Amino acid sequence: MADMLAAGLGYQALIAGCFLLAVIALVLIAATISARGEARFAGRLARERAERMGELLRTVRMAESIAELGVWQYDPVRDVQQWSEGMRILFGVDKHEEFVAGDAETLLFANDIDLVGQVMARSDEDGPFELYYDIHGYDGMPRSISVQACNLRNKEGEVAHVVAVVRDVTDQVKRERQLEQSRVSALQEASIARELAQTDPLTGLANRRRVMAALDQMVVRAQEKSQPLALVLFDIDHFKSVNDTYGHPHGDKVLQQVAKLAMEQARDGDIVGRVGGEEFVWIVPGADQSFARIVAERLRLAISMGTAIGDRPPVTISVGITSMMQGDASLKLFARADAALYEAKGAGRNRVRMAA
Ligand code: GH3
Ligand code: MG
Ligand code: MG
Repeated sequence: MADMLAAGLGYQALIAGCFLLAVIALVLIAATISARGEARFAGRLARERAERMGELLRTVRMAESIAELGVWQYDPVRDVQQWSEGMRILFGVDKHEEFVAGDAETLLFANDIDLVGQVMARSDEDGPFELYYDIHGYDGMPRSISVQACNLRNKEGEVAHVVAVVRDVTDQVKRERQLEQSRVSALQEASIARELAQTDPLTGLANRRRVMAALDQMVVRAQEKSQPLALVLFDIDHFKSVNDTYGHPHGDKVLQQVAKLAMEQARDGDIVGRVGGEEFVWIVPGADQSFARIVAERLRLAISMGTAIGDRPPVTISVGITSMMQGDASLKLFARADAALYEAKGAGRNRVRMAA
């Protein structure tokens, strides 16, 4: 009975064992099929992704070449920069030439450009920012490039990546520089023209127009600051006879010498001008009556001693001076100096007269 039971149990165990094996086998087969399926799916996914990526890159390259742009990328964590094909072309590298590690750094170094350093110095920027460089490409051609960069940040707000669009702006920069050049020369010409319009061509002194404009301003300024101001008006004595005796060209030389001596007496901020044929004016801001008399005498003496040319005698001047009074207008000041000069002439010339 016990044997029969054992034989019975052994048979059942054998069947159960076989059944279990069959189940395991089925599970394994199913798992293998599923794993193969998954692997195939993952493979297809990876292929599709790679194709999409390739397509994307081709599109980017096409866009780059149509727009003649370059794309520059920088990973600050790994300190790695990526140069797109367009970027290499902008730097004059033939597109068939192999671009190996270190070429980017070499091209930047050759142009003395610290692109990474300058981009990282702008890591505070949240919007796009622009940098300009004048470069000499690998092909030796000079060109100007614009780098428009943008910082991409991680969750912590640190710059995780920098992307830049690089353009050749040579023509634009050339046009802008030409424009700037023309603007500067137009301004220079205008300033020369203005200067000429206000300068006496024979002596280089301020002409009457400039003297009167300057006197207006200086009178206002002196009155505002309650500071003195003197006007020294002088005229060469008997100049007509100088011309008549020695000729007009000699007269011109005398006029130039008188102008030179007067300029030597003037200080910074003074104005010396030629207001008529042989009539001059010296505006002396800060000079009160006594100081004005001293400088006028000094000038009279300098001219009487310093205007002999060759064997021709020196000339003398008569001088009228006045100092500014409260509420004076420039024309009133001028008229008073003129009256004083007239007095000096009447008193025998070669002398200084102070206006009453
Ligand atoms: P006074 O002592 O009264 O001032 O006599 P003056 O002869 O100097 O005065 P007048 O007004 O009679 O003559 C001025 C002369 O200045 C006449 C003119 O030919 C001369 N003159 C004016 N401008 C120039 C110039 O640019 N060059 C030369 N060489 N002479 C000039
Ligand atoms: Mg004269
Ligand atoms: Mg005169």
